[in-house]
Amino acid sequence: MDILILGAGQAAVSLAARLRGLGHQGGITVVGEEPLPPYQRPPLSKAYLLGEMSRDRLELRGADWWQEQGITLMTATRATRIDRDAKKVETDRAAVKYDRLALTLGAAPRRLPADTGGALPGLHSIRALADIERMRPDLVPGRAAVVIGGGYIGLEAAAVARKLGLAVTLVESAPRILGRVASAETAGMIRDLHRAHGVRILEGVGIDGLEGTSRVTRVRLAGGETLTAEVVIVGIGITPETALAQAAGLRIENGIACDAQGRTSDPHIWAAGDCASFPHDGVRIRLESVGNAIDMAELVADNMLGAEKDYHPKPWFWSDQYDAKLQIAGLNAGHDRVVTRAADGTHAGSVWYYRGDRLIAVDALNDPRAYMVGKRLIEAGKSPEPVRVADPTTPLKDLL
Ligand code: NAP
Repeated sequence: MDILILGAGQAAVSLAARLRGLGHQGGITVVGEEPLPPYQRPPLSKAYLLGEMSRDRLELRGADWWQEQGITLMTATRATRIDRDAKKVETDRAAVKYDRLALTLGAAPRRLPADTGGALPGLHSIRALADIERMRPDLVPGRAAVVIGGGYIGLEAAAVARKLGLAVTLVESAPRILGRVASAETAGMIRDLHRAHGVRILEGVGIDGLEGTSRVTRVRLAGGETLTAEVVIVGIGITPETALAQAAGLRIENGIACDAQGRTSDPHIWAAGDCASFPHDGVRIRLESVGNAIDMAELVADNMLGAEKDYHPKPWFWSDQYDAKLQIAGLNAGHDRVVTRAADGTHAGSVWYYRGDRLIAVDALNDPRAYMVGKRLIEAGKSPEPVRVADPTTPLKDLL
């Protein structure tokens, strides 16, 4: 049985490695559009952007590994069509046949509309290694940077730019930063952290347009203010890569729609990672995280070989900003109560999310023990009483 994997990111590598780990003897081919072997993306907005990590450490597997595992890696190859009847994928190089196909196509960064200046040079997004190589020469100490978007990309990029000595203003159009992913309490701790490092944060302020002729020079805000912008970093979310799947007639719903086992609406085609949605707790979700890329891809590998296991994600996330580490366990969607717990140190503490009596997520800033305890509790389905959580004199381990 020949397995073809489209998309060559974290999910593809995890899927291919798991297939071989399970003893799959047939062909495995991984097709990716970028001209490089698969690499880690999380450091792109953190240590790699800062210049504290070398390029070869980004690589997920060395050249030897692909050879040893007998996996064909086709880089710089764009898949153009999935022919489900013939079970083959057309690319801009050659057609590749498959018995089973996995789509690990990831997502593309959202862009500002071109008619507001969104295509001007000096504007950067953070998704691919090439984006970082393009941006790096612009990150010159003393320059004025405007970061558009207050999600993890925008906040991590703001922290790096500030550390590199740029003057940074971050503009978020929603009422507050981290609106999609975290509570007002967590956003408050992160806002304080950035302000303490001298970042100006503007919330509830839209972008009216970008100005400049040969490159961007200014950002016009909806309220009338204009910001000097020698470099602009745009982190306004991502769109799952669904075009190929859609053109092939697969069901699309907030990404490529999968069943609980990671199978798409075609029983020979599977999907995993940022591009794939799946049923969870009665609703359809899509998880944008490296943890999900790994876990869902491994589950899909199991199921491609007949395991028939359902996906029960154990979500976790992290973000490095300055010297602070934010760690998140669980999913806070649908929470109706938030409990905060103080921790020792500046910019430290944790936020515990409840739905009814059930603990569903924990955000911990500079508090790895709160993260570990929260994660264990959530995974075990245990929910300590909120009053005990909120009391910093209750030892964390007593909550277990
Ligand atoms: P994100 O989490 O969706 O955040 C984007 C933010 O930008 C949202 O708050 C969004 O507000 C705002 N926004 C949208 N349009 C805007 C506009 N025109 N002007 C100003 N603000 C605007 O996405 P992201 O930060 O770009 O990150 C991309 C992906 O990478 C996400 O999946 C993220 O989780 C992942 N990532 C994760 C980590 C981590 O786990 N540490 C680090 C980096 C990236 P609305 O919600 O109102 O649109």
